[in-house]
Formats: sequence, C-alpha cells, structure tokens
Amino acid sequence: MTVPQVVVSPPVLSVVTPMYNEREAVDHFVARLRPVLDRLEVAYEVVAVDDGSSDATVARLLQLRTEWPQLRVVSLRRNVGHQTALAAGLRSARGDYVVSIDADLQDPPETIGEMLAAAREQGVDVVYGVRNDRSSDTVFKRRTAGAYYWMMRRLVGPWVSNQAGDFRLMSRAVVDVLNDLPEQRPVYRLVVPSLGFSSAEVTYVRAERVAGETKYPLSKMIKLTLDSVTSFSATPLRIATWLGLLSFLLCLGLMISGLVAWGFGATVPGWTSLYVAVLLLGGIQLICLGLLGEYIGRIYAAVQNRPQFLVAQDTADEVAFGAADVSTEELAGHR
Ligand code: UDP
Ligand code: MG
Repeated sequence: MTVPQVVVSPPVLSVVTPMYNEREAVDHFVARLRPVLDRLEVAYEVVAVDDGSSDATVARLLQLRTEWPQLRVVSLRRNVGHQTALAAGLRSARGDYVVSIDADLQDPPETIGEMLAAAREQGVDVVYGVRNDRSSDTVFKRRTAGAYYWMMRRLVGPWVSNQAGDFRLMSRAVVDVLNDLPEQRPVYRLVVPSLGFSSAEVTYVRAERVAGETKYPLSKMIKLTLDSVTSFSATPLRIATWLGLLSFLLCLGLMISGLVAWGFGATVPGWTSLYVAVLLLGGIQLICLGLLGEYIGRIYAAVQNRPQFLVAQDTADEVAFGAADVSTEELAGHR
C-alpha cells in the first residue's frame, strides 16, 4: 500500500517581510497585501519574519495564518536587525521570484504585480522599487537618507541607486547567490546591485507608515551606515593613512620651526603650539585606531562564523510533513 504524500511544490512568488514589533501595522499590512497577491493568480507564499518582537506580533500573525494558509511565520529567537531578518527570510523563501517589502506599508504592495510583470516580460533578474517621492518621510529621514546615498555612491560605486531601498524583486538565481554569501552582515541594497544581474526599475511613491513608530532609530541608522561602508570600502583606512601622512608633514614643519626657534634662543614661549600639536595628534591617532577597530571587529565576527540568526519556529515545517523539504536546521544561519 502506498502512503499518500503531500507534495508541496515551490511557489512562483515569495514575499518576504521582516517585522519587528509591528503589532499595530500587521493587520493593515495583511488586509492590503492579500487581495493584491490573490489577484496575481500565481502560487505564492508570504514569509513574515518575526525579528524577535517583544509585542504580540507573532501571536497575531499565527492567528491571521489560520485564515490565510499562504502566510508563513518564521520567528527568530531574538532581534537581529532588519538586514539579518531579511537574510533569514531569503533563506526560508522558496519562490522562483522573491520580493522583499517592509511591513509598514510605506512600500505599496500593489507595485508587486508590476515588478513581477517587468521581470517576466523583460526577462530580468532584479526589479528595483525606486522611490520617486519621499515627501511623506520626515525632513530628518530625508536628509540622513540623502547623505547616506551620497556617501555610498562615492565610496561603493556609482551603481548604487539614489532612491532604491529594500523593496525589490529578485529571481531565484539572485537569491541563491545571496544565500551563499559568506558575509555576516550583508547590506542588501548595496550587495544586490554590485552583483551585476540584469535589472529593471519600477517607480512608486513612498507612503507614510501606516501605524506604529519607526523601528529604525538613529543608532540603527548609524549601524547600517557603518556596515555599509566597511563591507564595501577600504577608503576609510586609506583616509587614515592620508591623515597620518598629513599630520607627519605638519609635525615635520613644527620640528623645523622648533629647531629654528631653538637656534634663535626663543624656546620658552610655545606652550600653545605644543598643546595643540599633542591634542591634534592624539585625536588623529585615536580616530585611526577606531577605524582599524571597526574592520578588525568585523574580521573577528567573520572568523567566529557564528550563525547570523536562529529560527525558533517556521510554520512551513508543520505543513510540509510529506515533502519535508525545509528543516529548521537548514534555515538557521549555518553554512
Ligand atoms: N525591522 C526589523 N528589525 C529591526 C528593525 C526593523 O525587522 O530591528 C523591520 C520593520 O518591522 C519594518 C522594516 O524593518 O518592516 C523597516 O523598518 P521601519 O519601517 O521601522 O524603518 P523606516 O522605514 O523608518 O526606515
Ligand atoms: Mg518604514
């Protein structure tokens, strides 16, 4: 007698959404996303990655799942940050195409249809969502984002799009490459364009956050910026070298002037220049040491090679008992 098997074939589309304390936004998100995906008439899954929320996000997601089987809940053991939560989602996603989208409806789900159509019709591997209007963001957010993209274009490369965040569609080929990256803290908005896959763009208007507050305080923005710079560019180290050279030249000038002053017997005054030189050099040295530390810290983390995240629960494991195609072990950040 043959045992009936549930064969779960991979969906065409996976929608990956990292969520951190999004209890207030999650109902709005699901209510708007579901009709959009149902209308696409392709097999899909939504991978909601709970990034160690301390509110009722997971409980609510599990409730919503009872009425929407395509909703998959992958919950991480602790908060690991947006980009790493995205990494967890990309590893879990099984679709031929994967779209990453925020949970706060700042990126309109309706654009997903356009992205999928663009990818299929033009045969491209990546479709970037490009914000053509950010007027709904605060002035502070726009200024800091402007400075971030300005710096990244200079440090990383001109192919970094000014207005492309993490709302994009990627083909299976791209996602497989991303999943195999050895990086501990990849910054996807920089990594994806750097791979050089064929791409297209769709524009959209960035809306206001539907509910709740931003989960990206200044400290997380600074962390993202540091990760972005250090994972793509050794320019800061080079700047350190130039600073060192410049201060060496300054010191040389000071030494010569000191010797000349000594020759003229005018050596007692000079407290200010000494004071300034010691402070300046001390400051420059500390900055350079700090810069070195940033890189060494990352090398240290890479050598330790700890898992980037651990999956506590994946609702897909409960469903796929026959196919058993994704195990929790596989989904952990181990390679
Ligand atoms: N997010 C996350 N982990 C974090 C911070 C944020 O998964 O530690 C998620 C968050 O729930 C949202 C997305 O990342 O879906 C973007 O965050 P948010 O909208 O707060 O950032 P902003 O749009 O203000 O830059
Ligand atoms: Mg947002």
